[in-house]
Amino acid sequence: MSGVNEIRSTFLDYFARNGHEVVPSSPLVPRNDPTLMFTNAGMVQFKNVFTGIEKRPYSRAATAQKCVRAGGKHNDLDNVGYTARHHTFFEMLGNFSFGDYFKDRAIELAWNLVTKEFALPVDRLLVTVYSEDEEAFGLWKRIAGLPDSKIIKIPTSDNFWAMGDTGPCGPCSEIFFDHGDHIPGGPPGSADQDGDRFIEIWNLVFMQFEQVAPGERILLPKPSIDTGMGLERVSAVLQGTHDNYETDLMRALIGVVADLTGVEPTGPRKASHRVIADHLRASAFLVADGVLPSNEGRGYVLRRVMRRAMRHAELLGAREPLMWRLVPALVREMGHAYPELVRAEALITETLRLEETRFRKTLERGLSILEDETRNLGEGQSLRGDVAFTLYDTYGFPLDLTQDALRARGVGVDVEGFNAAMERQREMARAAWAGSGEAATEAVWYAVKEKVGSTEFLGYDAEKAEGVV
Ligand code: ATP
Ligand code: MG
Ligand code: MG
Ligand code: MG
Repeated sequence: MSGVNEIRSTFLDYFARNGHEVVPSSPLVPRNDPTLMFTNAGMVQFKNVFTGIEKRPYSRAATAQKCVRAGGKHNDLDNVGYTARHHTFFEMLGNFSFGDYFKDRAIELAWNLVTKEFALPVDRLLVTVYSEDEEAFGLWKRIAGLPDSKIIKIPTSDNFWAMGDTGPCGPCSEIFFDHGDHIPGGPPGSADQDGDRFIEIWNLVFMQFEQVAPGERILLPKPSIDTGMGLERVSAVLQGTHDNYETDLMRALIGVVADLTGVEPTGPRKASHRVIADHLRASAFLVADGVLPSNEGRGYVLRRVMRRAMRHAELLGAREPLMWRLVPALVREMGHAYPELVRAEALITETLRLEETRFRKTLERGLSILEDETRNLGEGQSLRGDVAFTLYDTYGFPLDLTQDALRARGVGVDVEGFNAAMERQREMARAAWAGSGEAATEAVWYAVKEKVGSTEFLGYDAEKAEGVV
């Protein structure tokens, strides 16, 4: 059985053998796109190559790309710990053709890797195509020999990819693995497709058109290919488990959490182990790429991820900061593939230790307030927005941490009330500024920071050209 590190190499070697340039992962903070919060797909570093703005000395590439989906349009944060297939940080394996090969070769390369190199059983595989893409349907029949019943036509935007309102776009085709009928969930396209039985492992995007204006699409003279396969998901399949968190790499991290807390990763507690292992990876890789916890933009997403994991450490009974002690295991598992982790090890360790030390000062008190305020709430009821705001403002509880803490009991949070309380506080700060005088200095600072703080991150709304395969 291959480990995650070997599976990554198998993928890259296979595409190198097939004439692809192996290109290193780009950083998690996209260099070429200030509107995108984090790199969330393999194609992000190639955006300008696809649009023709940038030229590279190769027309085929393969990567293992670091991705974070914990903010912006693609946010899987709430899924982590609760589905078998989602992480905030994951690696996307991809092969790319820049006006070189197209649909037939892309399907052939993918099918050969999955069925020959990886030797997955054909009867457990099924694919989707965009309902209007008869060409792809025909190719899957001819190249893979799949029966019609295993080629599912999907009419929704799930199977039509676009770079933005204008620019390259086209149909996609996804490969799913059926983990068996002992797991709940229906096939893609069915009403119950959110279960974990049929897991999407690979998305092939056929960049066939260019959207030149709303409602106006032309054929690209040189169509391109962009694919993305989740390394953790394909590793789970290859290691005979349905669950990403049961792969060798994740088990190694979870094992250390269990050792350090003395709590076994089984039963209802196991979500905490998973959240900690996942968020450790996201936190460490973000710090290694230059993001530090702060109260805005990218830094705030990092802080949310870190604090969420720290509450789970507290749930497992950790009385001292825990996260920083997991760093050596992560470096052991992933430092070879990602030397930036080795280089940043000291910074990652200190950042985690400092953040957890600080947060611990208010964590217990915040949790006991949360407990008091929700003692009488039952399933379907919500925590008052102003209380959630106090937890945020005074005790450093990001909103999603509060939501996550109440989730198991089916208790929600009045988000509108939370936002209203936040707005009230901002208005008070502005009013204080208008009054002028010495005492208002701090308020002035806040107001200025609110305005110029956005130079660091241009905002969630601007996330148009989001690169998701
Ligand atoms: P899903 O429908 O399962 O959320 P997706 O359609 O959002 O996946 P894509 O945007 O198509 O995913 O990304 C390409 C591949 O990356 C997916 O087929 C999957 O293997 C992997 N992937 C996507 N999101 C995650 C995640 N949060 N954690 C781990 N792997 C992921
Ligand atoms: Mg998704
Ligand atoms: Mg999907
Ligand atoms: Mg997909």
